[in-house]
Amino acid sequence: MSTANSQSTAHLEEASKGAGKVRVRIAPSPTGHLHVGTARTALYNYLYAKRHNGTFVLRLEDTDEVRSRDEFTHDIIDGLKWLGLSWDEGPDIGGPYPPYKQTEKVDHYEHFADKLIRDGRAYLCYATAEELALLKEDQKETGQAPRYDNRGRDLTDAARTKYEAEGRIPSVRFIVDEPRMVSWQDSIKGEISIDTSDLGGDMVIIKSTGTAIYNFAVVIDDIDMKMTHVIRGEDHIHNTAKQLLIYEALAINPPVFAHAPLIFDLERQKLSKRKHGETVHIDYYRKMGYMPEAIVNYLAQMSWTHPEGKEIYTLDEVAPLFDLDKVSKSPAVFDVARLNWFNGHYIRSLALSLITERAKPFLSQAGFNLSAYEGEQIEQIVGSVREGLTTLSELPDAVRFFFAEKPELSEEVKTTVLAGEKPAQVLKTLKDKLADMPWGDAPALKKAVDAMGKELALKGKDLYWPIRAALSGKTQGPDLGVTLAILGRERVLVRLESALSHC
Ligand code: GLU
Repeated sequence: MSTANSQSTAHLEEASKGAGKVRVRIAPSPTGHLHVGTARTALYNYLYAKRHNGTFVLRLEDTDEVRSRDEFTHDIIDGLKWLGLSWDEGPDIGGPYPPYKQTEKVDHYEHFADKLIRDGRAYLCYATAEELALLKEDQKETGQAPRYDNRGRDLTDAARTKYEAEGRIPSVRFIVDEPRMVSWQDSIKGEISIDTSDLGGDMVIIKSTGTAIYNFAVVIDDIDMKMTHVIRGEDHIHNTAKQLLIYEALAINPPVFAHAPLIFDLERQKLSKRKHGETVHIDYYRKMGYMPEAIVNYLAQMSWTHPEGKEIYTLDEVAPLFDLDKVSKSPAVFDVARLNWFNGHYIRSLALSLITERAKPFLSQAGFNLSAYEGEQIEQIVGSVREGLTTLSELPDAVRFFFAEKPELSEEVKTTVLAGEKPAQVLKTLKDKLADMPWGDAPALKKAVDAMGKELALKGKDLYWPIRAALSGKTQGPDLGVTLAILGRERVLVRLESALSHC
């Protein structure tokens, strides 16, 4: 096991000269599903690593043992993979986790905490949960901000012996000198200064249960894993100040910090589970049939501007161009209408075979019998409607009529589109011509319908609507020739006969 003294910071010195290998990480806590904000942070780290030919690490920060769950670990790993943000080091589903999981490193953190105690930078604190709750209560009553009052800093030996005899189990607290300013040059935000008086007093680094606190474990991990840059959300700025104090006490050079702006909703409020429910989770977008390409593209351009002003790009295209100095300092806005615009673009432009593979689970879930169609017909079905889709969850409704025995004919369709002589004449003529139609050739089928219209001296609505209604139950939908080609002669016949019974 490494010790604080043996840590080399050569990687940091090299990185600061732009010479060494960049090492960055995404360090989610498995206390919830993969959040949109975490995905954006992961994306920035991924792009930064790619841009600098560096290493992107995934680490699971599970120091919150009560809220951490395997289910969330899996969701995070799955979600990052789905987005295409593959890591160079770190766990996969099912492990092996060490050293990329904090609860597996308890002894290691204790070792560093012991060193800080020996160096007079930390101490054992015997305050009980009840005492701390009382302190908080008092502070609340007197209108003070909650903070630890550093009461355990200078315990006498007698007091310590008394607490030990009472069976109190101590936590380890790190001494936060105050007042003083902690400053750093942030790669996104520029110069940042935090007053240590705002950090809540001496901070627990090891709980009485023996578990390390996030702000401590993260420093040790970033040292162990030789991180050169820490790119994370702006909500961590106060944590950064605390972490810089720990680096200083360990006499280890810190990595470069970069804090990305928060993501707000259209009402300028933080994206939160409480307000926005499942829509803050990547999994939600996956289930709703969003394209991962659209999500990463949308997240990338949310706070970063392409040098040529491009809006649509892939991860590979953008990686050589991405840098932190071009990330905006002001909050990003999550606008689902804009995400939908990106998604529609990708549904229309990605390979049809890929969209079809992604579409199949949505069709199966809707209860459609996919084996009713052969060969590439499912692809044709998806292709026939993809222009009009925003997400794949809209697909089943758009193609339901292909899978139904017969389309549902609404009263409105029956009375306005199918009623009267003309529609009956169109459908009957078409039925009589079925044997001679060029089946399998969509453009030729459309031409055949038009030729039939000429014979009947009908065109436009008068010609197409009854046929569309008979085939799909609707007057709008995919190209008529494509619809006929996909349905094929037998299905078309059944549908025409059924519609004719309503004419
Ligand atoms: N576990 C922290 C979080 O999920 C990571 C913060 C960091 O990147 O250091 O917010």
